[in-house]
Amino acid sequence: MLIFKEILTLSDHLASLRKNGKSIGFVPTMGALHQGHISLVHRAAAENDVVVSSIFVNPTQFNNPDDLKNYPRTPENDQQLLELNKVDILFSPTVEEIYDGRKSNYPELDLGLLGKVMEGTHRPGHFAGVVNVVSRLFEIVKPEKSYFGEKDFQQLAVIRFMTKEFGFSVRIIGCPTIREKNGLAMSSRNLRLSEKGREEASAIFSALNFAVKNRENHSPTELKKAVQRKIESVDSLTIEYIEIADEESLQPVADWNNLFHVRCFAAVLCENIRLIDNMRLY
Ligand code: AMP
Repeated sequence: MLIFKEILTLSDHLASLRKNGKSIGFVPTMGALHQGHISLVHRAAAENDVVVSSIFVNPTQFNNPDDLKNYPRTPENDQQLLELNKVDILFSPTVEEIYDGRKSNYPELDLGLLGKVMEGTHRPGHFAGVVNVVSRLFEIVKPEKSYFGEKDFQQLAVIRFMTKEFGFSVRIIGCPTIREKNGLAMSSRNLRLSEKGREEASAIFSALNFAVKNRENHSPTELKKAVQRKIESVDSLTIEYIEIADEESLQPVADWNNLFHVRCFAAVLCENIRLIDNMRLY
């Protein structure tokens, strides 16, 4: 695996690969890698000649300074895991290298209603930071395809929207959520949970499953309340939001009529760690 820290040397190398007709699949991450990230790497390897992964803890997408400070960092382990899983190129730049004293080459993007629900309202500035860094990375790597997890479903929608608005030619591929044995969605932040916390947080998965099983007997509002009650019944869990929303617009739904796909979304605090998850209902 080749490791690059500088944009210029990476760009040169990728240009020569591209000249030789190689297709580039890209997996951006913030490190503290787990099997969720690795599932994206495997998909990229199956569909491209060259896999590029980046590790960059992007300060502009953290709305909470403590969250940025405490974000898990496991660089040696990450490098080993990527190498073991046949990533060709790791890009791990510094903040200065990425932003070069400015924030982005792209204008601020109005996300419209997409930015006014769930993560958009609960983490002010978060998606502006995500758009910021992913547009910058796309501009540097110029991949044919880029891979993102459905665990961060709203982020995936924002990236699809951004790709269209800014005219990037990359294809965005959404990949299913990988879970722990107990159902908890894998996340770098799980490293900060105690063993007890990790066990109790699996109630989020159980509640989402409950929603899938009981969708036919309840309206979206009733179902949302039932999911809330299930999660609230675990002492260590505090709900930030539960939402039942249309997959395309991400706007909350009032009934099940005439909708293409609908998902239940959850943001929950456990031991002060913020966990998100979602599951398709229809
Ligand atoms: P992060 O390092 O948290 O920024 O995540 C990097 C990429 O991995 C994003 O596209 C995430 O959606 C994806 N990802 C994170 N956790 C999972 C998971 N449990 N299953 C699938 N993809 C994931």
